[in-house]
Amino acid sequence: MIKTRHLTILGSTGSIGESTLDVVARHPDQYRVVALTADRNVEKMFEQCMRFHPSYAVMLNARSAEQLEDKLRVTGLATIVLSGIESLEKVASLPEIDTVMAAIVGAAGIRPTLSAAQSGKHILLANKETLVMAGKVFMDAVRQHHATLLPIDSEHNAIFQSLPRHFNGDLSGSGVRRILLTASGGPFRTADLAILETVTPEQACAHPNWVMGRKISVDSATMMNKGLEVIEAHWLFNADPEKIQVVIHPQSVIHSMVEYIDGSVLAQLGNPDMRTPIAHALSYPERMESGVQSLDMFKVARLDFEEPDFRRFPCLGLAYEALAAGGNMPAVLNAANEVAVEIFLAGRIPFTAIPVMIEHVMKSTEKQDTPDLESVLRADRQARESAHEWLSSNFRQNAGQSVESPSCSIGQ
Ligand code: NAD
Ligand code: MG
Repeated sequence: MIKTRHLTILGSTGSIGESTLDVVARHPDQYRVVALTADRNVEKMFEQCMRFHPSYAVMLNARSAEQLEDKLRVTGLATIVLSGIESLEKVASLPEIDTVMAAIVGAAGIRPTLSAAQSGKHILLANKETLVMAGKVFMDAVRQHHATLLPIDSEHNAIFQSLPRHFNGDLSGSGVRRILLTASGGPFRTADLAILETVTPEQACAHPNWVMGRKISVDSATMMNKGLEVIEAHWLFNADPEKIQVVIHPQSVIHSMVEYIDGSVLAQLGNPDMRTPIAHALSYPERMESGVQSLDMFKVARLDFEEPDFRRFPCLGLAYEALAAGGNMPAVLNAANEVAVEIFLAGRIPFTAIPVMIEHVMKSTEKQDTPDLESVLRADRQARESAHEWLSSNFRQNAGQSVESPSCSIGQ
């Protein structure tokens, strides 16, 4: 019998947030939703408050918080509405909660996720950008404050499930030879390279297997997502980069694998539905129903594997470079990528300019150590400034008016 868990869901209105609430709603006596947070989606937050009656609802945006408060007042619901980053940190560390789903997208997730670690919570980590930016700072906080970290990213959850139950961060000592990190290859795996110049945000977001938020969908199309996941795996499992092999597996049925020194390869399989890793982490070490359908092996019929193509996906190579460089470089990579994805989604640069811009920002940044949160946030800020400078000197500012697409020299 699972004891009742008291939850804060950071980013509850997003794709992972909604899947989390879907799982939680299937087990009403095992979970109490104490706090929900979002950026500015008032309508969805209002619906979630009406359904889950949280004690707190936080909108990052102050105006959105006022609107939510107005709407809730008429209903008589006792939910306290807060706003701002400090309130996100506060609800991630409330004494009355034990578990935090960290599902804010991007660098914005770092402070509340770190706050959950510093207060020793069970952290269900979807916000991979926190680990990419501040792997050491975050992992140190987890250890120091005896927090528990459970991976939500499907690949990392699969690796976690395929590792020994009491894995202590020593891969060799556990008999592990390497990690096989699977990747679908996204919507442009086989596309003619010439068309990448003109693909639209809608095409880039049309993932063949997963339904996700727009930022991670573009990251999947560039395979930056897999690059971020290599860095994430490095920190979560204490894995050297050469022990992490990316494997393209277009069906997204095997969510990742662990190879042992005796030749055994353990994999976790399932339908591509984030409710599986969410339910696994919520109920760990037990198991519970997630609403996910059985995997129909006869329908799947075949599983394919390919080596990643670093020329087609330069972002993957950039992420390996950032990991090898260490220090501020992963945070710089992440920040430049966030800016590039945002302006690609706004129609201001072509898809092919994303790696060019990231490479430029990385090359023009001096390598530095990032021993604390302040230095990580500084690296993030400086990389964003550098990305915007590159943008203004290479592209006109009006939406859809890109003038040229410089080529990327990275590739192997
Ligand atoms: P999403 O865009 O659907 O949702 C993001 C959530 O974060 C929303 O609730 C939004 O209101 C909130 N948010 C956005 N900007 C914010 C800000 N500045 N401050 C506070 N809150 C903010 O994103 P998603 O697809 O659910 O992804 C969330 C995280 O989970 C990402 O880090 C992503 O990489 C990771 N992840 C997602 C999936 C997936 O299937 N969607 C799979 C693996 C990992
Ligand atoms: Mg993933």
